[in-house]
Amino acid sequence: VTPNALQLIERAGRVCYKSEDKITASSAIDFVKMLICRNHEAVLEHATMTMLFVTDRGITHELVRHRLASYCQESTRYCNYGNKEIEFVVDSLLLSDQVRKLLQDSEDTYKTLIKDGVPPQYARDVLPTCLKTEIVMTANMREWRHVFKLRHNRAAHPKMQRLMSLALWEVPDEISTLFANMG
Ligand SMILES: Cc1cc2nc3c(=O)[nH]c(=O)nc-3n(C[C@H](O)[C@H](O)[C@H](O)COP(=O)(O)OP(=O)(O)OC[C@H]3O[C@@H](n4cnc5c(N)ncnc54)[C@H](O)[C@@H]3O)c2cc1C
Repeated sequence: VTPNALQLIERAGRVCYKSEDKITASSAIDFVKMLICRNHEAVLEHATMTMLFVTDRGITHELVRHRLASYCQESTRYCNYGNKEIEFVVDSLLLSDQVRKLLQDSEDTYKTLIKDGVPPQYARDVLPTCLKTEIVMTANMREWRHVFKLRHNRAAHPKMQRLMSLALWEVPDEISTLFANMG
């Protein structure tokens, strides 16, 4: 998180109203609440937050649709899982014998392809959407509010809802005002 994020937002926002003289040690929280209440959310763009998510590739495919953010994601082109255990993120309700077999077959086929000299960027085609992945996402606070509104929502995929729920838990207390009523 940008250091002193709320104070920075207040400092920037008060330029609009020329009310810098009203800044005190504790004025930032109420100022930020006022900005949100008035939908003056452009001011929130002065601070950013970075999060690391561990989820599956189906969920990250949805996450990266958010255009006002920067991403770094574990690459199935450059990472070679030939000598590693391949991890999948599957809801326990789905874990029937048939699904377990499918995942095992997928892992075995990938490893056979790698052993036969097929590069990871081709071998990855046999791995399913529930392949575990890691993604780092950086966005400004206005965009994070937008992402949480859409993705920590009943209309979102259950795995996405759970991920966003965990993300909201990880938001540091000092900036929780930015995400009030979203948790
Ligand atoms: C429940 C749910 C179901 C979905 N289902 C589907 C689906 O079936 N198929 C599918 O393809 N997608 C689907 N999506 C993805 C959705 O269409 C958006 O791509 C995604 O939610 C990103 O949202 P956004 O464009 O509002 O936000 P962001 O890309 O995060 O942008 C934030 C905001 O910036 C502004 N903005 C950004 N770029 C532009 C621009 N070029 N022009 C003008 N304003 C801009 C907008 O105000 C936007 O709301 C779904 C999303 C959700 C939450």
